[in-house]
Amino acid sequence: MQWETVIGLEIHAQLSSQSKIFSGSAIAFGAEPNTQANAVDLGMPGVLPVLNKAVLAMAVKFGLATGAQIGRTSVFARKNYFYPDLPKGYQISQMDLPIVGPGEVEITLEDGSSKIVRLTRAHLEEDAGKSLHEDYSGMSGIDLNRAGTPLLEIVSEPDMRSAKEAVAYARTIHSLVRYIGICDGNMQEGSFRCDANVSVRLKGEEEYGTRTEIKNVNSFRFLERAINFEVERQIDVLEAGKSVVQETRLYDADLDETRSMRSKEEANDYRYFPDPDLLPVVIDDAFIDSLRSTLPELPAARRARFISELGLSAEDAGTLTADRELADYFEAAMCGGKVKAKLAANWVIVELTGRLNKENLSLADSPVDAGALGQLLQRISDNTISGKIAKQVFDAMWAGEGSADEIIEAKGLVQITDTSAIEAMCDEVIAANPSQVEQYRGGKDKLLGFFVGQVMKASGGKANPAQLNEILRKKLQG
Ligand code: ADP
Ligand code: MG
Repeated sequence: MQWETVIGLEIHAQLSSQSKIFSGSAIAFGAEPNTQANAVDLGMPGVLPVLNKAVLAMAVKFGLATGAQIGRTSVFARKNYFYPDLPKGYQISQMDLPIVGPGEVEITLEDGSSKIVRLTRAHLEEDAGKSLHEDYSGMSGIDLNRAGTPLLEIVSEPDMRSAKEAVAYARTIHSLVRYIGICDGNMQEGSFRCDANVSVRLKGEEEYGTRTEIKNVNSFRFLERAINFEVERQIDVLEAGKSVVQETRLYDADLDETRSMRSKEEANDYRYFPDPDLLPVVIDDAFIDSLRSTLPELPAARRARFISELGLSAEDAGTLTADRELADYFEAAMCGGKVKAKLAANWVIVELTGRLNKENLSLADSPVDAGALGQLLQRISDNTISGKIAKQVFDAMWAGEGSADEIIEAKGLVQITDTSAIEAMCDEVIAANPSQVEQYRGGKDKLLGFFVGQVMKASGGKANPAQLNEILRKKLQG
């Protein structure tokens, strides 16, 4: 039988404001428990929440970046449930009138094709606190630092048809929220969390199948695996003649499986109602326009520009623009056009990123900044050094030995482009290897590499490779 997968994602992006959504407490990660929770976060009676304007602005920016409708009037609602890390007994969220209405994002798949995923809505809400089970035997600790942390919940339509599409969508949103500076995207710290709603149906069928919701996925790799596991599980259930139970399932990365957490029957009735402590939020054109003017060039537009104006491949453009800082670095390394885009892209993607990954460094910690790399690349472009020597110079720059020019000068790495000097070296190598010369002339073309290597070695790696090749070829032909 032919099954089709249907996926919709709910993403919680923690907004990178200074303070909480309804109180003045800080939201910095990693503070001592309960040092960033005030009377409002603790749910003390008689205190009143006040909406953080910076948080509202971030939600609107997200709406603008996805071409979505902005809710001119939006309303906060109480989502009622009991849990020890929720002292108020309700979470403040949005229900009927969210701040961001329907919108859409374009995702690009591995094969280069693209697809539109519709956004249902995005709404503001506060995070709950955290229960700590590990450090207390027979007891649980409650840390309310996270209570009241601002979240934007971004809900998609069930438009994805494979785990790969779901990951591409999640990555697109991840890149977007970081571009517009509303979320740091740190998945390990929980600043960006994805819940995947998954169902399967027979191909051609109109109605969606019963879905499950997978929680607890904290990397894109796990998201893909969790969905794939869940799809297989549901198909097995259906092919065995049973039905899928609508439930929430937890992904266990160690076992690479999903497990039932709670079923629909046990699901809470949240008894949503408008929060009487908070007035409806009404925003005007001036507020929206002021935010629109702060939006940077968005990843999709930047990617398209890198392809059409700079001539990069779709893959390179996608890699560079997925991260705003990386794209900025790349553009800065081009030194206003003095360095060709392709050369800069190769160095940024292969050498720089490779080195950063190897040493587990972030771009911000790179010992070589964009301007410094740009200078090195200019020395390749103007033939001062070969690409191979440039790697040696890059290593020295990385080790803090100075700028590209300083290192080239200090180590005497300037490329030899003097034709007569290269000819002299070729003559020596040819004279020293008569039998190889004979074999080459007898048709063993592959030996050219041997001669190139010998002359290169004699030149300390500094002979201009193109000149060297040409001169050798001529001389060997006799
Ligand atoms: P709830 O209110 O229970 O969270 P929603 O209707 O808001 O349910 O849907 C939540 C998410 O589930 C959305 O991202 C939506 O696209 C997705 N979804 C809804 N139905 C299905 C389905 N049959 N299969 C896969 N995803 C679904
Ligand atoms: Mg939901």
